[in-house]
Amino acid sequence: MRAVDGVSLSVGRGRTLGIVGESGCGKSVLSLSVMRLLPPNGRIASGRVLLDGTDLAGLPHSAMRKVRGGRVAMIFQEPMTSLNPVHTVGFQIVEALAVHTEHPAAALRDRAIEALRRVRIPAPERRFHEYPHQLSGGMRQRVMIAMALSCEPSLLIADEPTTALDVTVQAEILDLLRTLQQESGMAIILITHDLGVVAEMADDVAVMYAGRIVEQAPAASLFADPQHPYTLGLLSSIPRLDEDAARLPAIAGRVPAPHALPPGCRFNPRCVFAAERCRAEVPALRPLDDTHAVACHLAPVELHAAA
Ligand code: SF4
Repeated sequence: MRAVDGVSLSVGRGRTLGIVGESGCGKSVLSLSVMRLLPPNGRIASGRVLLDGTDLAGLPHSAMRKVRGGRVAMIFQEPMTSLNPVHTVGFQIVEALAVHTEHPAAALRDRAIEALRRVRIPAPERRFHEYPHQLSGGMRQRVMIAMALSCEPSLLIADEPTTALDVTVQAEILDLLRTLQQESGMAIILITHDLGVVAEMADDVAVMYAGRIVEQAPAASLFADPQHPYTLGLLSSIPRLDEDAARLPAIAGRVPAPHALPPGCRFNPRCVFAAERCRAEVPALRPLDDTHAVACHLAPVELHAAA
């Protein structure tokens, strides 16, 4: 089964690429593939993952261990299950610094405290000695970010970094990520199902459906002029303050499982525009202009006429 199929993406230094789609679209498998953290029953069957010209997909495990957590770091959705519960947060940051940096051992504690301070954790000297369960959800996510950024990665993959947080803490974390990105120039891949987060953070957006990219564009043009019916569906299901909708429209049905993909366009059983051709032919991802690409037989002209 192919959980991710034919995906091609790039993200530049200092840029943020948002990857959106419902649960089961392949977003997390994609990010775990970049990190080479797939579970034992998963593998990268073909393709490359280039970081400054080095193919991470082809690196020996020992070399990849140096890259992972160093030049490429990841923050996960739920820091309570990602942090080690039996070690203090300070110990865990020191460990990352010891593995991935050349700092002398005597300086690691100070570096770790500095990392906690950078993510605006109050009283970092005290927090250094605390365990994950002693911190709030927002604080734990800050610790994850501190750990991820302590080794100054070129690329940060943030997989649903704010989903487990309430909206005010979410806004603080996003603001923090933006500030830290401006300071360091790192690239961010932001994986989320929340288009509001993408609108706030991303320069470019890729919309995934059933393991493939169905639309790719700069964030401004994707929100102003969505071309794929799936993107249209996602956008119209967001509550808006300036509209008085009694009930939000939903996309009927569910994402198909990788072993039960429909023929033709994978979105066709759920698409209100589906035509005969859609059930027979797989639509290729094709450019509409220099920056906007879409995988739909009807886009752009006929889709607008149908809408
Ligand atoms: Fe809908 Fe057809 Fe476009 Fe697929 S190719 S998204 S089924 S209109």
